[in-house]
Amino acid sequence: MSEVRTLKVALLGCGNVGAQVARILLDDADALAARSGARLELTGIAVRNIDAERDVELPRELFTTDADTLAKDADLVIELMGGIEPARSLILTAIQNGACVVTGNKALLAQDGPTLYEEADKAGVQLSYEAAVAGAIPILRPIRDSLSGDRITRVLGIVNGTTNFILDQMDSTGAQFADALAEAQRLGYAEADPTADVEGYDAAAKAAILASLSFHSRFALEDVYCEGITKVSAEDIAAAKDAGFVIKLLAIAEKITKENNGNGGGEGISVRVHPTLLPREHPLAAVRGAFNAVFIEAENAGELMFYGQGAGGTPTASAVLGDLVSAARRVVLGGPGRTETTTGHVPALPVSASTTSYYVGLDVADQPGVLARIAHIFAEHGVSIEIMRQTIHRDAASKNESAELKIVTHRASEAALAATVEAIKGLDVINSVTSVLRVEGV
Ligand code: NAP
Repeated sequence: MSEVRTLKVALLGCGNVGAQVARILLDDADALAARSGARLELTGIAVRNIDAERDVELPRELFTTDADTLAKDADLVIELMGGIEPARSLILTAIQNGACVVTGNKALLAQDGPTLYEEADKAGVQLSYEAAVAGAIPILRPIRDSLSGDRITRVLGIVNGTTNFILDQMDSTGAQFADALAEAQRLGYAEADPTADVEGYDAAAKAAILASLSFHSRFALEDVYCEGITKVSAEDIAAAKDAGFVIKLLAIAEKITKENNGNGGGEGISVRVHPTLLPREHPLAAVRGAFNAVFIEAENAGELMFYGQGAGGTPTASAVLGDLVSAARRVVLGGPGRTETTTGHVPALPVSASTTSYYVGLDVADQPGVLARIAHIFAEHGVSIEIMRQTIHRDAASKNESAELKIVTHRASEAALAATVEAIKGLDVINSVTSVLRVEGV
């Protein structure tokens, strides 16, 4: 019987995810060896503070503060430190020394992915990052491998658990954004500084990664249009609910053709993150709390949905270990380390190139002829109305009457919708435009 090879594994970082990865590597060594064809020997764990308390009890002699030396002398390097530096330099060092790298660092990949992928290709090593998008959910490998014989046309993802928790809380309790955020912080779903989550930056980094793999091109953070959820009010949520919708923060990557380019431009990919109304019967509408899900539309496969835990030390460690076993198999069997194809060469398009349906909420005077005047303005700007609903409000004290109008349009360009809203604001019967939100899945 041939001798089982041993591969040296360096772990950089031992926080929420790293500690669980170390635990599984040590506890499940035999099973991992059987699955990967090599013994995966954890040679060291690089941290800032060796004496810090860890979530898991681990042999003290494994810890070091010399990440560079550890990364240089390994067959497989797992980067779970986060941040840009020194993670970037350490990953490059590992690649240049011929090691395969597994990382969960979406911020680094969104900023500097193209350089790292190129270096990995040049060195013939595998750079894997399943944990970087939607935590435990196997989504990148299905896109890259299982769907490599198909053409993806659209990806819609709930890829940030914090914002999904906040929006779900607002939807189920009627809370305002600030109160739902405070609750998320109290329960540990949101950080003390929640900016990266609530402004959509974390989802934007993941959108760039999803778009790159789905459309075989390279997209970076600057290609992603990004709007967070801080302006979503309890009133928006209530109005959406009343009209049969739920509001979700979606990461969207979608193919734009010449025929449906809202600017009249050419083919390309629209990559964007923004609050979006979804019909309550859409599969993504059922994704509650801090869960994540990615909904894919492909030419031949049709619609697919991947659902699960998008964060957390142990769930995310599952994705890291999956990448590690796959990288170890590659090392044992040989073969190219190529992890992605970039043969698509399709450009990223500005958000104005995308066309979506819109929800427009209006507070109007309750007078005869108002509906017809508003419908006329939509028609004048080429925006056709799919649903228009009116609710009358009577103020008992003043006896004044006003009407709330909820309008859902067919697909329209951003420019046409913006011009429509501007023209409507100029009408003397309009008290206010209460919300303008994009709609998907109708
Ligand atoms: P974390 O809890 O903050 O842990 C970071 C670890 O890296 C700590 O052990 C820290 O050492 C070490 N570290 C940081 N800077 C270092 C440096 N300059 N030199 C040596 N060690 C250093 O992070 P995490 O939550 O585990 O996340 C790790 C990565 O996974 C991030 O890229 C994150 O985006 C990604 N990710 C996390 C989750 C999740 O649920 N947490 C989900 C998906 C992806 P000390 O312990 O000594 O401070």
